[in-house]
Amino acid sequence: MSEELGPGLAGFAASTDFLSSQIVEHQNEDTVFSHDRSETVGGSEIDACPRKVKDSKMHDRRWAGNGYTARGKGMEAAMCDTFRRIERYWRVVKQRDLYFTAIGDRQESMVLPELGASATPDGFLTIDGETIYLEIKSVDPRISGKSLPKSGHVAQCQYGMELCHRTGRAKPQRAFLIYQDASDWARVQIFEIPRDEAAASALLKRAKKIMSAKSPMDLEPMGLESGGAECSGCPLENTCKAERAARVTDYRDDARFDEAVIAELDDLARQRMSAVLAEAEAKATKDAMSAQIRNILEEHNASIAATAGYSIRLSVRAGAKRFDRSAAEADGLDLEPYYKQGNGFPVLTIRENE
Ligand code: SF4
Repeated sequence: MSEELGPGLAGFAASTDFLSSQIVEHQNEDTVFSHDRSETVGGSEIDACPRKVKDSKMHDRRWAGNGYTARGKGMEAAMCDTFRRIERYWRVVKQRDLYFTAIGDRQESMVLPELGASATPDGFLTIDGETIYLEIKSVDPRISGKSLPKSGHVAQCQYGMELCHRTGRAKPQRAFLIYQDASDWARVQIFEIPRDEAAASALLKRAKKIMSAKSPMDLEPMGLESGGAECSGCPLENTCKAERAARVTDYRDDARFDEAVIAELDDLARQRMSAVLAEAEAKATKDAMSAQIRNILEEHNASIAATAGYSIRLSVRAGAKRFDRSAAEADGLDLEPYYKQGNGFPVLTIRENE
């Protein structure tokens, strides 16, 4: 028994569960900013759904993505160490005009309170007198390897460069948007983002609009409008969906459209139909490939195979526990008080004309 910890904690601390929960709890430390982030829209938020951003300014919402945040911070810190080694080599050894500023724990926030805008770049690279804005992103190769650069990250660079100009911190004409693969740090992709003043001004207007809105509900539900991927897990998900469903019931069923709108709808419906067919084909192909792989493993009595590109594993997952409602009711339990009516939701039905 540990004298330092006392009997209760000593027993608990001996378990692997204790250590794993502690790692998850302590792996991330809140970043301390020099300005009040509830008063401005930051660079990483500028392309997000305005309604969600406004909600986060008014309520202290915690999110369950600490692991991703910790990964990003850890990789960024390691990248800054690499920057220091690059600088040491080129500036000190080679005597060239190359150096990094405002990296790692020397990051600087730029704030325009009158526009409700702020940005904290990951640093600046100066080469031969030119200052380049830097943004570092870690990439999960299972998810986003093929769709880079992400529009939100490009917007972040534009917004940040504009804040540099307007606050007088620096005058970058381009940004380097750096993506580093989380599973293989040697896989680095860098996109050059030239400054676009018109795009940046539109983003500043968006920041101002978000900060001057009185309520999140005064702003567009951009997450829903762009397909809903951003809505999953958003604290306003039910509210936004209920609001949209309520609106749909008020729509007319005899509205008239002009020809251009009809043509656009026809084109979109055709594209959607093609996507549905491609999705079905892709699923059939996926099922067929899975069956072939399973067959080969079974023929070889094997549960694991390693190829040049993939690790393949055949395993058994325990079946999920299911609630047997009929049995409960047969036993005389009244389940009705436990049912809740869910939100209605809009249903889009498209049928091809004969
Ligand atoms: S649910 Fe979707 S639309 Fe609504 S605030 Fe969240 S992200 Fe925006």
